[in-house]
Amino acid sequence: MNKQKTLAFFGAHPDDESFGPGSTLAKYALSGAKVYCVCSTGGEAGTVAPEFMKGYESIAELRAAELKCASKALGLTGLLYLGYRDSGMRGSDDNKRPECLAMAPLEEVTGRIVRILRDIKPDVVMTHDPSADYGHPDHIATHNATVKAFHAAGDASQYPEAGPPFQPRKLYFGVRPHGTMKVMVKLMPLLGQDPHHFGRNKDIDLTRMVDVEYPINAVIKLSKQEVAVRNKAAACHASQGGGRFRRGPFMLMRIVERFRGPRDYFMRAYPPPTRKRPEKDLLEGLN
Ligand SMILES: [Zn+2]
Repeated sequence: MNKQKTLAFFGAHPDDESFGPGSTLAKYALSGAKVYCVCSTGGEAGTVAPEFMKGYESIAELRAAELKCASKALGLTGLLYLGYRDSGMRGSDDNKRPECLAMAPLEEVTGRIVRILRDIKPDVVMTHDPSADYGHPDHIATHNATVKAFHAAGDASQYPEAGPPFQPRKLYFGVRPHGTMKVMVKLMPLLGQDPHHFGRNKDIDLTRMVDVEYPINAVIKLSKQEVAVRNKAAACHASQGGGRFRRGPFMLMRIVERFRGPRDYFMRAYPPPTRKRPEKDLLEGLN
């Protein structure tokens, strides 16, 4: 039976869905699947230039509008929030606020995700990788709670208050191939850039990103149309740079991508991969 499939991405901030697996989300939405984005925080700790704040009371309000715009561009079925505050980087004041995600007990965050999984019933769940890409506390918390919730959702004895059990079939983490990245990190100092403090908020340590390497179990080839949709969605996040890195390693990676063709890469956390050949489709084996 070829029943309509459902995929859900759990990301920490408004923009992680587009800057991360945006093309893949667009691909499945375009193919007729239901695709949800669940965002853990309001992105309150992001750096926003004053010109973007016009007409908005707060950074959270601005970023919610940007995420709404992106989810419409991606053709998402639904956009949900876990309702936490952005934790900012480790050691920052944002990181100590009681309502931030990093301060929330893992059990509580997991419970909120279990409730969503049992409600939207995704076949496939996607989230950040275990070291959470660049070590942001919200990415790590989102990863940990999503993994725990994935395994708890099908167990009626866990979180009984969150609805009847439902077990999603597959769990993926978005990862990046490291070969190109390693070369870029080495090149950056020659271009006068600091790989330890990269990105708009200078909070991305690229050296950490290349330190840990995860297996690539799924390679999703993307069409021009899917990438164009992703770029349109990323552009919605104008206050965060719109996903366009004009300099540095991501720009160089884009050049490499132009030769190889655009792809998204995933590690399959569940079920454990049984063969060496990467999957070409996250829905493989689900029919
Ligand atoms: Zn993020």
